[in-house]
Amino acid sequence: MRFAVVGGGISGLVAAYRLRQRFADAEITILEASDRVGGKLWTVPLAGGDIDIGAEAFVGRRPEVPALLTELGLAEQLVHPSGARPLVWAGGELHPLPAGTLMGIPADADSVAGLVDESTRARVAAEPSVPLEWDRTADIDVGSLVADRFGEQVVRRSVDPLLGGVYAGLSSSIGVRAALPTLAAALDNGAASLTAAVRQALPPPSTAPVFGGIRDGYGVLLDALVRAARADVRLDSPVTDMSAVSGFDGVILALPAWALATLLPDLAPETAAIEHSTSALVALALPPDTALPGNSGILVASGESLRAKAFTLSSRKWPHLARRQVLIVRASFGRAGENMDHWTERDLIDAARADLERVTGTSIEPVDATVALWRNGLPQYGPGHLDRVAAIEAAVAELPGIEVAGAYLGGVGVPACVASGTAAAARLATEVAR
Ligand SMILES: Cc1cc2nc3c(=O)[nH]c(=O)nc-3n(C[C@H](O)[C@H](O)[C@H](O)COP(=O)(O)OP(=O)(O)OC[C@H]3O[C@@H](n4cnc5c(N)ncnc54)[C@H](O)[C@@H]3O)c2cc1C
Repeated sequence: MRFAVVGGGISGLVAAYRLRQRFADAEITILEASDRVGGKLWTVPLAGGDIDIGAEAFVGRRPEVPALLTELGLAEQLVHPSGARPLVWAGGELHPLPAGTLMGIPADADSVAGLVDESTRARVAAEPSVPLEWDRTADIDVGSLVADRFGEQVVRRSVDPLLGGVYAGLSSSIGVRAALPTLAAALDNGAASLTAAVRQALPPPSTAPVFGGIRDGYGVLLDALVRAARADVRLDSPVTDMSAVSGFDGVILALPAWALATLLPDLAPETAAIEHSTSALVALALPPDTALPGNSGILVASGESLRAKAFTLSSRKWPHLARRQVLIVRASFGRAGENMDHWTERDLIDAARADLERVTGTSIEPVDATVALWRNGLPQYGPGHLDRVAAIEAAVAELPGIEVAGAYLGGVGVPACVASGTAAAARLATEVAR
């Protein structure tokens, strides 16, 4: 058997590893366009240590990443955050991030008290008594739904900062059905108000940590996957035409949606309809006595006069990073629709520094800095996304020996990508066994 995996991000590496588990003697080739594997996972040196400058964490309630680490003999690499909570910069001040919300959508007025003005708080409190119209057959962007029920301030100060973190999106670029399926289900099932729907949609209380991370960075997971897959990894090998993989018995296309469009032109309308946002990350190493707050990060409300959209105070968030000789901060830039082409690395470092000085009120003097630009890095799960994915999957199912995996299918997070790579390999294995 000869298999090709196109795209060496986490989805593709997991797919290759799962194929290896089923086909001990198969020839497995990974074709990767860039000069390294990992895609949005990238561990780089900073001030004498390694840090992640793409994804840095994963949702801790999902089993995929801890299970994968254990399988690969890396269980001791699993780490959890300190439990420190983030702040929100809104209206020119820092506020605690509301607790007990669903992606920033409050379940009651108290959770946003202090963050929003009194009239918005009163509006959230009164929302259950305002008749709700919900179309079970349609999809809507999160921003329109929340603004209509709770007002703009809840969108800009509570929802946008969280969606900016997950999708590099804005509530106007993200649809309710794909991004908040439990909320959509509660509304479909007749919840009488948005407040009631959020209460039903919130996950049950759990003592499990919300996030997990990898002590030495995602690079150790990538290395272990490459070893375990025993694949022929070909870097600097962009696939621009399906004829490049025609000699294989099975092919997994583990690509971003925009790249899939060029390989399978019949899918171009569906894939082109998936928009992507560009973001940039600046990692700063600061002297250990820099007076940063004790919080895990600072999210920035949309519409504020800052250029950064969030700061992760990594040394406060992660106990294993707190042991380093420097304080590490990740500043992120770029929200849906924002063009970042004019930014140089220097501009980004200067903006990270100036904005961090403004929100912390302390002098920021980096001893080291590194930058990553993630052009078209995150697919936007806009209204109608689930229908587009269903159309893509149905069309691919008609193509013999070809499967797809990736962040645009079942979730952008690393656990969802691991699941996507695993599922694609299982489908291909079933198909070639027929
Ligand atoms: C800045 C940032 C921070 C993030 N933070 C988190 C986080 O903390 N937690 C979390 O769970 N998720 C996070 N994510 C999301 C997550 O990292 C990604 O969704 C996930 O890594 C995508 O993996 P993938 O393999 O599907 O795609 P990618 O990582 O995009 O990999 C696709 C690969 O295909 C290659 N390729 C493209 N075109 C071709 C071609 N024609 N031929 C061959 N190869 C090609 C690319 O070079 C790339 O290596 C973050 C994403 C970004 C951008």
